[in-house]
Amino acid sequence: MEKLLFERPVIKKVSAGMPGKFGMKTGFEVLTTIDGVPIKDLVEKYGSPLYIISEQTIREKFRSTEQIFKSKYPKVQFSWSYKTNYLDAVCKTFHQEGSWAEVVSGFEYAKALKNGVSGREIIFNGPDKSDADLKLAIENESLIHIDHFDEYYSLIEIAKKIGKKARVAIRVNMDTGIYPKWDRFGFNYENGDAWDVLNRIMSIENLELEGLHTHIGTYMLSANAYKVAASKLADLAVNLKSKYNHNIAYIDMGGGFASGNTLKGAYLPGYETIPSMENYADAITSALLSSAINKENMPLLILETGRALIDDAGYLAGTILANKRLSDGRRATVADVGVNLLFTSFWYEHEIMPAQPVSSQTEESTIYGPLCMNIDVLREAINFPIMKKGDLFVIRRIGAYNMTQWMQFITYRPRIVMIDTNGITHVIREKEDLDSIRGPERLPDHLK
Ligand SMILES: *Cc1c(COP(=O)(O)O)cnc(C)c1O
Repeated sequence: MEKLLFERPVIKKVSAGMPGKFGMKTGFEVLTTIDGVPIKDLVEKYGSPLYIISEQTIREKFRSTEQIFKSKYPKVQFSWSYKTNYLDAVCKTFHQEGSWAEVVSGFEYAKALKNGVSGREIIFNGPDKSDADLKLAIENESLIHIDHFDEYYSLIEIAKKIGKKARVAIRVNMDTGIYPKWDRFGFNYENGDAWDVLNRIMSIENLELEGLHTHIGTYMLSANAYKVAASKLADLAVNLKSKYNHNIAYIDMGGGFASGNTLKGAYLPGYETIPSMENYADAITSALLSSAINKENMPLLILETGRALIDDAGYLAGTILANKRLSDGRRATVADVGVNLLFTSFWYEHEIMPAQPVSSQTEESTIYGPLCMNIDVLREAINFPIMKKGDLFVIRRIGAYNMTQWMQFITYRPRIVMIDTNGITHVIREKEDLDSIRGPERLPDHLK
């Protein structure tokens, strides 16, 4: 008998359509309207790609989140994190809902003032505050969150010079059980730096210590980390009370609550696995209420929640440009949305949905953007319905960071529209044109 030829077995990773906890995904979700407005009409009128913001979603998310915290703690104040999305229309919506402004640069500070926020309701965070920024913030009685000792020394000098007290807090970093630790901002709790700088501040005439601040990280999947953080800030508050009889006016827990997006490599979708807002609120408020802080002097609880409040309100609509086959036969789809418009695609597996009915036929495809760069990939090897040139799609949960971290690259950045609570659409940022790019450029005489 002839010996059978040996064939080496191969193991192939199935990367598309992995069965989830609830089996294989069948059918494909289609999203044709946003707040009742057809995406097709929006793209026809305002062009493709197009960012779309739902004012209704911002307000609903804000109100439900505020309600959760207010039901658990007597005094709560939200402060809108400008860097998460600093479009004026977005900021103004949050300010109308009662949010203060949380800024991390002179530019964001100026934007908050222009948006009509009173100086006393601006929180100035971050490691980069110029002397001019600090001077303005002291004059406007804003809350300055000191990040490092160099800033502390500048602040004393400037406050002395203009003869006005600076309203300050310190940013505290700490071990919350989450690694890697975020210890590059503020003063460390465990090594005593935080307590050290608080003692120094208490001895300085021109600094008025009003609060304690932390921002423990972003897209935090552990609510318990907030419990640890709030307990540590409460400890500092209690120590200040016992040593100086000084009451802290507020404890600012920063932001970092996760939105419903799915991190790359996650097994289940983010919206099924992240802690609920109730979990975060319970962790923080129970730590504060069960601390040794005197019940008569409970500090105002400030929250600087960014992505969890705005992600769901943002959409990015686009058009399929082409389909092609890669050299090994795999299917590739080219879209007019690149990673320059979707910065968060580097961390998230964004949900890309057809914006019109599609056939139920799907095939493993990689969705590429239009940029002439190899890294311009929106989704790698996903089960995607067969869509043809000219078909529309929409990516949801993109309201956080994309409209601030976007890049002008190769082409113009597109329009942004907001659908108001009556279903009326407004352009809130125009598409760029040649002048908006060339405007700041200067040509040396010899090249004219
Ligand atoms: C970025 C930032 C926030 C908002 O963070 P999210 O993760 O979007 O909630 C809040 N506070 C500070 C100091 C920040 O730097």
